[in-house]
Order: sequence, then structure tokens, then C-alpha cells
Amino acid sequence: MREELIRVETLAKHYRVPKMKLFEKRQAVHAVDGISFGITEGEIFGLVGESGCGKSTTGQMIVQLVKESAGSIYYRDRKINDLSGAGMKALRQELQIVFQDPYSSLNPKKTIGWLLEEPLIIHGIGDKAERRKIVTETLEQVGLSSDYLKRYPHELSGGQKQRVGIAAALVLKPKFIVIDEAVSALDVSVQSQILNLLKELRDKLRLTYLFISHDLNVVQYISDRVGVMYLGKLVEIFDAGSTVDGPLHPYTKALFSAIPDVKGEKERILLKGDVPNPIHPPKGCAFHPRCPLATDKCGRERPALRSITPSHAVSCHLYEEGDIFQ
Ligand code: ADP
Ligand code: MG
Repeated sequence: MREELIRVETLAKHYRVPKMKLFEKRQAVHAVDGISFGITEGEIFGLVGESGCGKSTTGQMIVQLVKESAGSIYYRDRKINDLSGAGMKALRQELQIVFQDPYSSLNPKKTIGWLLEEPLIIHGIGDKAERRKIVTETLEQVGLSSDYLKRYPHELSGGQKQRVGIAAALVLKPKFIVIDEAVSALDVSVQSQILNLLKELRDKLRLTYLFISHDLNVVQYISDRVGVMYLGKLVEIFDAGSTVDGPLHPYTKALFSAIPDVKGEKERILLKGDVPNPIHPPKGCAFHPRCPLATDKCGRERPALRSITPSHAVSCHLYEEGDIFQ
């Protein structure tokens, strides 16, 4: 079995909400509320869920851009969330992130060549000629010729900018990349080109990804396993390629039912109400107020995320003990 590259244990982030009144009780947004999962070396682990469920916060905690409120993050069995100084700098090279919006993540005043060289300078890698060689090779890896070295971000199309965003993450030769809504702003045809490029790069460079998107269609296409988040919690982890072991959680089923079906045979499951406020998450199962199958128990007890097979786990009272085949 392949080694786990990343593991998070009961990871949580609570953001304090500013007080509106002087004597009001201090409140917190439970952005990520105690999640545990692992990503195997070479795997693409997809994270999906509606906007605000805590996907970006999870990715940013793993690459240490956001400090966790509780829990642990391991990289190759080494706890990394207490590192500082040199240890942290070395680690930054191995863990990278690609953001949704290449427009704001690329400085408009700098050439592509400069933008890609800068991380190498910061990490003290190579002399001028060596750095130029690495930058040119990295551009080639993302399908752009050396003609782009002298260009500015505004001269590029959305897809080309995102290729540069990926090159900026690759230039330090990382092992693990968080890819956060990186194709969400692109046209569908450009989306699939970038998704295929990401898959090719994973294979060629032996990378491991946490691939984040609100779009289950996209996540299902690129991922090996998928984690479904709802209100800061993981409600299901399933094997994206499995045809026998489909999604079980009523929330995952609702997300799947929203994907248009070519044959038009699927019945869409419409969820009641809105996503609850993460300042006051519901008691019991966070999904129960919107769940078409909720029972009294769901309002009282929070279900644990339980493994059903080695690659499938679900957090739902419907699938406890002998009830799996209901
Ligand atoms: P997603 O990426 O799934 O859309 P996020 O991780 O961005 O979700 O956000 C999860 C929750 O945390 C949301 O309710 C969001 O409003 C809140 N949140 C995110 N960042 C901050 C912040 N810096 N301060 C306060 N609340 C935040
Ligand atoms: Mg996000």
C-alpha cells in the first residue's frame, strides 16, 4: 500500500465574530469543525461542498497559510503545524497552493518570467542562468513556450493565466499542491484542458493534490477519492471511480442529483431551506434540518464518520450497525 503523504486529525478553525453590542457573548464561526482524513501519495483527493462549508479554510490550514484553532496536520508522518523558522521555510517548498483567481494572484506589473523566478530567488535556488532554465522548463510543462517570459498577466487569456498560476506553484518542485477552485472561473472547454493538464502533471511529476471545488462534476472527473463537506464537517468520503459503491449520504445524493444527466432520467432531490448559519450550527447531525430522511435521533446525536469499506466512510445514522443495506 502506498504511504499517506498528508493526514489531518480533528482539524478545526473557529473565526471570532466581532461583537455588535458591548455585553454580548463572544461568538465564533465554526468554519472547519474537527475533520480527519488522509491523502495517499500520488492521489488526487477532491473536496466538494456548497460555498462557505470550509473547503478553502481546510486547504489553507494544510499549507499553513491559516493557523488552525485545534487539531494536527502531518506531512509524511511528521507533525508540521508547530514548525517555525528554517523547518517551515523548507516545508513551504514542498507544499504549494493554486488559487481560483489568477487575475489577483499574479502581480500585473511584473512579467511572467519575473513572477516565476521570484520564488526561486526567495528560496536561494540557482544562479541567474540556472533559474532561467528552471523557469523555461516549468513554462513548457504547463504548455507555454518561452515567448511568454516577457509578457504581462493582462496579455494572457484566463486559461493561460491559470497555466501561469500552476507554473508558479510548480517552479519550486513541490510534492503536494492544494488546488482551490482553480477552474471555476473558466469556460467549460478551457476547464477540461486545465483539468487534463493537472492530471498529466500529477502522473509525470508524481504529485499529490487536494483538489477543491463546489462543482461535484469537476471533482468527480479529476479525483481518485472525494470528501464531501457540510458546515465545516466531512459527511462522506467515497471512491470516485467505483461503480458498485456509490454515494450514501443524503447530502451527497442531493449534490449528485443536481448534475444534469444526459438521458434525463435522474430525479432531482431538492433540499429544504438554506445552509444554516455556521455561528449556530444545528444540534445533532448538522444536515438534519434539510434532510428528507431525518429522524428524531438525527436532531439529538451527531453521527460519527464511520468506515464502511477501506475507501468509503459516511457520517449518517441511516448507515449505522446493521442498517447499511437499507
Ligand atoms: P468555502 O471555501 O467552502 O466556500 P471557506 O473556508 O472560505 O468556505 O469559509 C468557511 C466559513 O468561514 C464561511 O462561513 C466563511 O464566511 C468563514 N470565513 C472564512 N474566512 C474567514 C475569515 N478570515 N474571517 C471570518 N470568517 C471567515
Ligand atoms: Mg473557497
